[in-house]
Amino acid sequence: MNQYDVIVVGAGNAALAAAVSAKENGAERVVVIEKAPREMRGGNTHWSGGVLRFAFDDPREIGELLPNVEEEYENFYDGVSPYSKEDFHGDLMRVTSGRTDPVLSKLLVHNSFDTVKWMKKVGGIKMEPAITLSAVKKDNVMVWARGLVVRAEHEGVGLSRSWFATAERLGIEIRYGTAATEILVGDDGRVNGVKVRDDDGVSVLNAWRREERKVPVIILTARDRWSDKVQGFDAGADDYVTKPFHMEELLARVRALLRRATGHATSEIACGPVRLDTRSGRVVVDGNPVKLTSHEYRLLSYLMHHTGRIVSRGELTEHLYDQDFDRDSNTIEVFIGRLRKKLGVDIIQTVRGLGYLLDATRSQA
Ligand SMILES: Cc1cc2nc3c(=O)[nH]c(=O)nc-3n(C[C@H](O)[C@H](O)[C@H](O)COP(=O)(O)OP(=O)(O)OC[C@H]3O[C@@H](n4cnc5c(N)ncnc54)[C@H](O)[C@@H]3O)c2cc1C
Repeated sequence: MNQYDVIVVGAGNAALAAAVSAKENGAERVVVIEKAPREMRGGNTHWSGGVLRFAFDDPREIGELLPNVEEEYENFYDGVSPYSKEDFHGDLMRVTSGRTDPVLSKLLVHNSFDTVKWMKKVGGIKMEPAITLSAVKKDNVMVWARGLVVRAEHEGVGLSRSWFATAERLGIEIRYGTAATEILVGDDGRVNGVKVRDDDGVSVLNAWRREERKVPVIILTARDRWSDKVQGFDAGADDYVTKPFHMEELLARVRALLRRATGHATSEIACGPVRLDTRSGRVVVDGNPVKLTSHEYRLLSYLMHHTGRIVSRGELTEHLYDQDFDRDSNTIEVFIGRLRKKLGVDIIQTVRGLGYLLDATRSQA
């Protein structure tokens, strides 16, 4: 996980606020790790009342959070009592029988109102009076429980939904189905990462193998116990790399795996006069170097790794582009045309209606 500036554990109210704050303060790559799957996201926050307790001296200060409240509730402020920092701190001490951390609780209380204002402004949390939870009518005036006047619109569900929307808008990555199992501490005593358990990867792999999907798989993980490796290989992995790893080593392992999967013993693949070196990325025809764009190279490499079998246009499109690429496009045909021209030898055969076939015997044609 060393590709991130900030790693936050758990996608509840606290963690999503931390992630948004990190992003706001300049962190570029922020990730939130959540052990629940996406469809069960939100933690306790989802089920909560979404009430936001904070300290204020003058009830009219709340107007910043509920701008048109007097239109809906006549004489709203008459029923709201001030809730001072001392009141808030006293309540914390009372409900915890004095066990509240003195430093943290002071910080919490002192910053409580500013935090709630920040949640509205930066976090995009819409707010409303917590009427069903804390208001009672007394002598025709709504009286609100002390400190419990404002809540997120649509309670915990709305609070959670708004946090996720803001996090996604800010480009914060959220990894579901990933549980933090250990905090990693460097020699200098600083926290520098977390170990995660990503059960999903292994179960996805198990399912693929059950469906007879033979795609080569390397497991890349922080789980470095021998029993984890055994579990990974038994699930159908072809290789297992533990973090931290060197990128060069990983790329070499990818090349080796592709070689094995296609029955080649070295990094060089040949088809007639065309030779492609997967290590250096060089292509030569009859010993003369040919300059290809990255797309042309990947296309040729894919075809050469599948010499002797028909490769469909859809398969090539899938290999070259990400999922949302327009599959009706005839770009592949254009690339094939360019490739034929650059190679100068006719080894790529079009099989009408089916795709393309690399055929060394046609190289002299
Ligand atoms: C019914 C109910 C009503 C409540 N009403 C209020 C209220 O009105 N106002 C209020 O302030 N508070 C309320 N609370 C308390 C409320 O839950 C918290 O204030 C708030 O939601 C806590 O947010 P959180 O982010 O700390 O925790 P959570 O929302 O519980 O989020 C923690 C997240 O971390 C994930 N996680 C845990 N361990 C790991 C791990 N090892 N790796 C990866 N992910 C992990 C969990 O799956 C979860 O998504 C209520 C609680 C309940 C149960």
